[in-house]
Amino acid sequence: MRLILLGPPGAGKGTQAQRLLDRYGIVQLSTGDMLRAAVATGTPVGLKAKDIMARGELVPDDVVVAIVADRIAQPDAKNGFILDGFPRTVPQAQALDRMLAANGLKLDGVVELRVDENILLERIENRIAQAQARGEPLRPDDNPAVLRKRLQAYREQTAPLAAYYALKRELRSVDGMAPIGEVTAAIARALSGDNVKKKKASPAKAERNGNVLSGHAAKASSHRAGGASKASRAKGKARTGGAARAARKPTARRPARGKSSRTRKR
Ligand code: AMP
Repeated sequence: MRLILLGPPGAGKGTQAQRLLDRYGIVQLSTGDMLRAAVATGTPVGLKAKDIMARGELVPDDVVVAIVADRIAQPDAKNGFILDGFPRTVPQAQALDRMLAANGLKLDGVVELRVDENILLERIENRIAQAQARGEPLRPDDNPAVLRKRLQAYREQTAPLAAYYALKRELRSVDGMAPIGEVTAAIARALSGDNVKKKKASPAKAERNGNVLSGHAAKASSHRAGGASKASRAKGKARTGGAARAARKPTARRPARGKSSRTRKR
């Protein structure tokens, strides 16, 4: 299983990726985590990425493509992977296509988490304020101004990927504002083709579909989609019966490596 999770910062990609790993026996490849690790250890990539990330901008395509190419060639990714936070631009998506083709590999799906940007922003700002009040360490890009910048980068540079993958008939969309377990179940159904058909859209329509950030009613104020706390993430590991049934796949253990590099993600 090779999967891309698309969605803006805070949409719950990391949370959903964690829940899908055991189900499919694959690893999570988060470019944000890889870049943060590079920054922490002060590698040349880290030195290049540090200030860009702190500003909420995107790291250059060639830098990110190189780390992903290296990562998917590693043995623990042989069984499959979930890409979380990559690709983030059309050139990155094209590079991924070339990378996969060169290795005789194919994507099984691209899942877009549709969210309401205003609710998302409010939710993340609250979470940042609470973490600050508790005196917890924050990421350098954990502040409302940078978050707005990151959402803008998403709208301008990443949202067009929905059109890119819709034209390739690889895009599935799920409501990312639903409760966490329901989102997981919807992703599993989308991947097994039970519910959501692969979409092919005209470029104009797909473009509109790509701009999904503000299309939803504010129905989910009591729902949690993204950014699970450690505790809720641990709790989230107990799969719901519905989600498990929806997957109809044998579970397999995810290699330990996929999780070891994981840091807190929104
Ligand atoms: P994330 O944890 O995925 O939200 O990523 C945190 C930051 O890392 C982003 O705001 C970017 O600065 C950088 N980053 C992560 N993935 C990519 C990517 N695929 N392309 C460019 N920059 C990225």
